[in-house]
Amino acid sequence: MQETRDSISDIWGERTPYVGDWPVRVDERTLAAPERWVQSACVLCSNGCALDIGVRDGRIVGVRGRAVDIVNRGRLGPKGLHSWEANNSPDRLTHPLIRRNGRLERASWDEAMDLIVRRSQEIIREHSSGAIGFYTSGQLFIEEYYTLAVIGKAGLGTPHMDGNTRLCTATAAAALKESFGSDGQPGSYDDLDTTEAILHVGHNIASQQTVLWMRILDRRRGPNPPKLVVIDPRRTFTAAEADIHLAPRVGTNVPVMNGLLHLIIEAGQIDRAFIEAHTIGFDNLRQVVSQWSPERVEALAGVPAAQLREAAHILGGARSLVSSVLQGVYQSMQATAAAVQVNNLHIIRGLIGKPGCGILQMNGQPTAQNTRECGADGDMPGFRNWGNHEHIAQLARLWNVDIDRIPHWSPPTHAMQIFRYAEQGSIKLLWISATNPAVSMPDLPRIRRILGRDDLFVVVQDAFLTETTEFADVVLPAAIWGEKTGTFTNVSRTVHISRKAVEPPGAARADLDIFLDYAQRMDFRDKDGAPLIQWQDAEGAFEAWKACTRGRPCDYSGMSYAKLSEGSGIQWPCNERYPDGTPHLYTDGVFNTAADYCETYGQDFDTGASVPQEEYRAHDPQGRALIKAADYRPPHELPDDDYPLWLTTGRLVYHFHTRTKTGRAPSLYEAAPDAYVQLSPEDAARYGIGNGDWVEVESRRGRVVEPARIGDIEPGLVFIPFHYGYWDKPERARAANELTLTEWDPVSKQPHFKYAAVRIRKVEAPRR
Ligand code: SF4
Repeated sequence: MQETRDSISDIWGERTPYVGDWPVRVDERTLAAPERWVQSACVLCSNGCALDIGVRDGRIVGVRGRAVDIVNRGRLGPKGLHSWEANNSPDRLTHPLIRRNGRLERASWDEAMDLIVRRSQEIIREHSSGAIGFYTSGQLFIEEYYTLAVIGKAGLGTPHMDGNTRLCTATAAAALKESFGSDGQPGSYDDLDTTEAILHVGHNIASQQTVLWMRILDRRRGPNPPKLVVIDPRRTFTAAEADIHLAPRVGTNVPVMNGLLHLIIEAGQIDRAFIEAHTIGFDNLRQVVSQWSPERVEALAGVPAAQLREAAHILGGARSLVSSVLQGVYQSMQATAAAVQVNNLHIIRGLIGKPGCGILQMNGQPTAQNTRECGADGDMPGFRNWGNHEHIAQLARLWNVDIDRIPHWSPPTHAMQIFRYAEQGSIKLLWISATNPAVSMPDLPRIRRILGRDDLFVVVQDAFLTETTEFADVVLPAAIWGEKTGTFTNVSRTVHISRKAVEPPGAARADLDIFLDYAQRMDFRDKDGAPLIQWQDAEGAFEAWKACTRGRPCDYSGMSYAKLSEGSGIQWPCNERYPDGTPHLYTDGVFNTAADYCETYGQDFDTGASVPQEEYRAHDPQGRALIKAADYRPPHELPDDDYPLWLTTGRLVYHFHTRTKTGRAPSLYEAAPDAYVQLSPEDAARYGIGNGDWVEVESRRGRVVEPARIGDIEPGLVFIPFHYGYWDKPERARAANELTLTEWDPVSKQPHFKYAAVRIRKVEAPRR
């Protein structure tokens, strides 16, 4: 066994202080000496750390970081070092299952696929292909998402396709589109190497992207350390490191950001030349934020005026700035509006498109970027605009289908609406791949009712039995990372190749092969009668994807499997102009907002109403960034006499999503084996609750029982990690989403997991 550190107890490892060029540190954990190493990258968070998979006797025996890679310079965090053990878990699915007489029974691939195809064809005949919906993941590869997107959009012609990325990064995409005209992070991780200041908004980066946090800690311990401002209602690991920690009340991100913008504008710390040459909307922003004095922010958000001023002093005075945003914004009230205010901070200060200046509208899941790029979520492939006829015509030419085959009369259906349609009975077949909505969606009692409907045929494609397979009519066993080849892109636009290292167990198949099999059995054809999908393997799918991206912001046309295998990952756009990739977008101050090029014409922050194309064209920004202001709107549910506390939910450092994989890595399981409810000492005293006591938490939707953990949270707020479901502990209600509500952001359609009104009481220990 080789282990460079115990990453469970030493999460971030030893410091390598620096400024300018992040030193290499290779982290490794193997349980036996590998016979060979296979190039890959970690799929346990959006950081996308490059690693090699160690293989011995046909099994994965460990991983080591890739020193040559620009993302992690060899480092890995606890999830990356441990979660590969899930591949070897004895409870992997090894053959398809079909529900017969209420029980899932073993079936052959032919039986399972024939049944899916038969149901698909019956539903199309009796209803239309619009009665078929797909709900996918942030875990698959580009090749799989793109193939799925072509099946849905040009094969079936259904608008109902989204990913669980709707739950975690839809707001990142929406905020980037609203400000810059298209998705795509303007900067890079290496901006952290030289920046003077860092702002994290609703982002506990120390737990969520542990390797990126190592980079920040190393800067903070080196010469000329960057100042750090953190906005988070909880005192997280990240907040504990901050120079200034602002802890606003739940749902007040917009007032806090408006207060900061107001102070910075008032102090004249803005780049007037940049604003005049490259932006639209500054005067309206100035007028809106002028209403948000520090004292008004303090009264509403609970952030002391003096602290807000200190934070503004740092953010307004720094000559370079990296900001990151995550679920504390994306899953809360006014998600897109608040995320856009972070963009505005960079725009008005001219801190964009140059070294040391980056905005990371962060992704939660490792391949979330790719669902968005490929159109396997509520977007069109290649960041095309559903409302732009020429963009859809490009896809029709590429796929050689009639343009009317591609649904584009409205935006693609978002996940919350897909489940609503299933609830209403208009979606009859829901195909769920690599995700677990029976734990991860809000308001689980409702989700279980939907998935359990007699008139809904549910296909689940996964590596394990999950809480969602309980509702499946067909279960398809999937190969996972390490057992198939493909590519994926991290939040910093860096594309990595992940090669097949071992065979999948039993009859499990790569998701790509499952989708290709379905396409062939459905006999999807182009308008000349040729097979719609003309690729048979991952590299063929990647080449097709490259063609789809040519000339678009996410241009992959200069990449190849061979090039991605040479050393480091490569940042898109990578094409003839940028053969080695691109660290910064918008270096010339020209954004993707031109009417003919943009991915969206924009939406109203309060209602979500789309800006009509004619209106957008009448005021064509022609490459200027859009500065969009927002005023405060209160959350949809507020504490009251019956439910007097706020609930917020979130993640832990040791687990990913619903623990389907991390819960099967023994050390990660043991490090965080169960859910809990975190509450302040004041609330604990008020309710007579001690550390470890059992607490019932109840909302208007449901109830859970959790052990208490006291401290590091504001009075009036309780926190429950959302990872925990029932596959390993079925005996007590413990999934945080039993309590959350069915509400979503009007622009990004991302559900609100960060606030719900609850009440608590001490209860007896549950019986085991
Ligand atoms: S930071 Fe993310 S991508 Fe990197 S090793 Fe950890 S979980 Fe994997």
